[in-house]
Amino acid sequence: MMANVTSVPTQETVMAKIAVNFDLCESNAVCMQVAPKYFEVRDDDFLYILQEEIDEADAATVQEAVDRCPKQAISIEP
Ligand code: SF4
Repeated sequence: MMANVTSVPTQETVMAKIAVNFDLCESNAVCMQVAPKYFEVRDDDFLYILQEEIDEADAATVQEAVDRCPKQAISIEP
């Protein structure tokens, strides 16, 4: 008797990640205004990435932060 195997297509959920070029970043906090869940400029004037993996629901928001960064310091890595 053959087992009834339901084949599930292999679907890799690869989380996109945030990468910041800190040589370019001037800590002006534009990204923090757009996506405070992911970016924070602290009192020491450095930008901190609060969460590297981008939640699917936030993809557009993070993309907006990328687009609005005046230094083009943020990139999204697949
Ligand atoms: S918007 Fe760009 S330059 Fe400004 S703090 Fe964020 S990464 Fe740095």
